[in-house]
Amino acid sequence: MKVLKFGGSSVANSENIKKVLAIVANASKKDTIAVVVSAFGKTTNNLLAGANASLKNIEEAKEILSNIKTLHNEVINDLIVKNKPEVIQKTTALFDRLHSIYEGIFLLQELSDKTLAKVSSFGERLSSYIIANAANEVLDAVHKESRDLIITNNDFLDAEVNFKATNANIAAFFKKNTHQVTLLGGFISANIAGETTTLGRGGSDFSAAIYAAAINASELQIWTDVAGMFTANPRVVKQAYAISEISYEEAMELSHFGAKVLYPPTIQPALRKEIPIRIQNTFDPENIGTLICKNPKNSNEVKGISHIEDISLITLEGGGMIGIPGFSKRLFETLSVAKINVVFITQASSEHSICVGVYENDATKAQELLNETFSIEIDRKKIKPVSVENDLAIIAVVGESMKNYQGLSGQMFAALGKNNVNVRAIAQGSSEKNISAVIDKSDAKKALNTLHEQFFEEKTKQLNLFVTGVGNVGEKFLAQLDQQKKFLKENLKLKIRVIGLSNSRKMVFDNDGINLKNWKEALENGEPTSLDNFYKKVKTANHRNSVFIDNTANQQVSEVYEKYLRDSISVVTCNKIACASNYKNYKILKEVSRKYNASFLFETNVGAGLPIIDTLKNLINSGDRIHKIQAVLSGSLNFVFNNFNTNATFHDVVAQAQKEGFTEPDPKIDLSGVDVARKILILARESGYQLELEDIANNAFLPKDSLQTTNNNDFYASLTKNETHFQQLFKEANDKDCRLKYVAEFVDGKANVGLQHIAADHPFYNLEGSDNIVLFFTDRYPSNPLIIKGAGAGAEVTASGIFADVIRIANK
Ligand code: ADP
Ligand code: ASP
Ligand code: MG
Repeated sequence: MKVLKFGGSSVANSENIKKVLAIVANASKKDTIAVVVSAFGKTTNNLLAGANASLKNIEEAKEILSNIKTLHNEVINDLIVKNKPEVIQKTTALFDRLHSIYEGIFLLQELSDKTLAKVSSFGERLSSYIIANAANEVLDAVHKESRDLIITNNDFLDAEVNFKATNANIAAFFKKNTHQVTLLGGFISANIAGETTTLGRGGSDFSAAIYAAAINASELQIWTDVAGMFTANPRVVKQAYAISEISYEEAMELSHFGAKVLYPPTIQPALRKEIPIRIQNTFDPENIGTLICKNPKNSNEVKGISHIEDISLITLEGGGMIGIPGFSKRLFETLSVAKINVVFITQASSEHSICVGVYENDATKAQELLNETFSIEIDRKKIKPVSVENDLAIIAVVGESMKNYQGLSGQMFAALGKNNVNVRAIAQGSSEKNISAVIDKSDAKKALNTLHEQFFEEKTKQLNLFVTGVGNVGEKFLAQLDQQKKFLKENLKLKIRVIGLSNSRKMVFDNDGINLKNWKEALENGEPTSLDNFYKKVKTANHRNSVFIDNTANQQVSEVYEKYLRDSISVVTCNKIACASNYKNYKILKEVSRKYNASFLFETNVGAGLPIIDTLKNLINSGDRIHKIQAVLSGSLNFVFNNFNTNATFHDVVAQAQKEGFTEPDPKIDLSGVDVARKILILARESGYQLELEDIANNAFLPKDSLQTTNNNDFYASLTKNETHFQQLFKEANDKDCRLKYVAEFVDGKANVGLQHIAADHPFYNLEGSDNIVLFFTDRYPSNPLIIKGAGAGAEVTASGIFADVIRIANK
């Protein structure tokens, strides 16, 4: 014999019940079967809501009852022909009875556990009876009342089963039963006096296991709305997948820690008889789902991850506990007498504190009772009053063979730490079947995804980007990302998603990743932006491996980096302001980045996409020392002086440079040499020197009146006015067969920038277009410098530099 159990969503409506009947018909071809069903869909919740409503507003209760009736009558009308009058008569009687109970609750203003159990039993009483009759249309099916078979104690809502009586009843019934299919309601039972009890919410799984064990079934099948027990709750972790095989103990551990797909007590009866349990999807019956058995074939050390929300942590703390036996006994006794379930325990080896996790709705009661139990010690200041922390969750990593494998807990906590998940308490059972940690409830989703990535997706890594600035560089960056997506996934096993996007007016967020084919439209339809709201959204999204990307040249944006880094969110920027602001600020950002393990990368601050800062870092990290840096670092100035001669006006060449995207939005920043000064400042700082922008000698070539302009129009007008000055600069160089290059130098701790005459034998002489060149003279390269040369300006190469920084973070 086999036992098949179908959960609430499997029997939520006629359409679904037809699928159930097909599965039952198929299974009953080879075997006699017992079918255990839950109440239809959300019926148990609705029945209880009706009972609670009856206390206050009987009309509301009647409305709920009427909805319950409608659902059941629809199923009867759709699926039953043969016995319809009888079924209607019996179900009407049940609804009338329920109606009377609700009225009774209203009149007496009393709602005991006993009444709640009675009310909630109607769901399974109705569903099993109706489905039995629907099955009987085509199969040899019979209905049997579970309350006649499963006998319990008097804990009405969470009753304990009397296995001796129950097993005898079930065995006796099935011995006589000749039908191919027997329909039974899950969840419901009765005490010896015949009063209705229930096995706890979700208890239909347990009923099915009780039947399976009592009749020595060859298999217990749990049919639900997912294709098995997953590596994590598939509603929370998208990448979760069904575990093919898992042991009883592991399945029990996972379900205890929140994997609702199986009610935890279910395992025991099946385990005792070693009956294999298969979890399958009613809506995808071909999928073989998960097998729970004694010796699973599964070589993963970690089998699954689960979590419980709404946990409170209760701490008993004080020097007066050290070395004195009996504190924990009194603590647990107090909680157990009050029937408060302890989900989690830790005690520091100093015995200075004991910490227990309980469900949030038990926390206040637990606190009061414990303060009372320890009132004398608290009055004498031997221990502190009991403290309670709320809004917590427990996450658990489960796997039986974890104990044979070193370093798993290290991996677990390193992954959580890297993603800024604060761990409040840790417990590891000595059996090492699970390692659990208490964290903030708001971090639960991120923690589960982080751990899932760590233990089940090692091969693909996900990066979540929050991009500010979609001008020249930002737009190119998004296009490159979209174009490379497939390549990254296939070759680097890297999934990069843009979760948030903003310009100076609007922002848009999509937790599944913004479609990069139509981000412009999405952004246009977004909400008004502000740096603060953007930050709040990033915080709320709370994704692992988050990266904030600044594609602007904006001062305010550069001021938010620290906040992100402190939240362990990496920052990538082409905006030079932060690294070129005062040294203290630069240093703080570097330190915060280190402390919170968040990358702070700004390769594009110097030489656009050229790997200048990265090379410098590699030199320094490997022990080299920088003596001198000589460089042409302004793509814009290089473009300008390469194209400026007697045949062109200075004004036109600058305008051309701006048009081609080689200048900052404010071209004066380039022409005044400030931009170059910032770049050499950043290189000097990255070489380990403490320098300020004011320390850099700037031999500006712009006349004073050009330098003093305050907007682009005035600036361009001043260039026309000073054409002779610029022609003179050109002539002086040309007369010596030299070319004009704007050079940055850093020598022995001092830096300067300025226009120089470069002769034909110098490496700078032939620098073309908007190219940059850097010469590093170091211990290892004393006279023949390390040279980096190539396109050093333009949106495309800057975007690719941002991209390279993102990949650096992914590879970390
Ligand atoms: P039923 O009504 O069939 O008893 P439940 O709602 O009780 O179904 O359990 C199925 C649900 O359990 C799934 O829809 C899923 O959201 C949740 N769940 C939580 N953790 C897991 C997990 N590790 N694997 C599968 N499902 C899980
Ligand atoms: N119907 C009950 C509940 O909703 C039992 C179950 O479905 O397992 O809790
Ligand atoms: Mg369930």
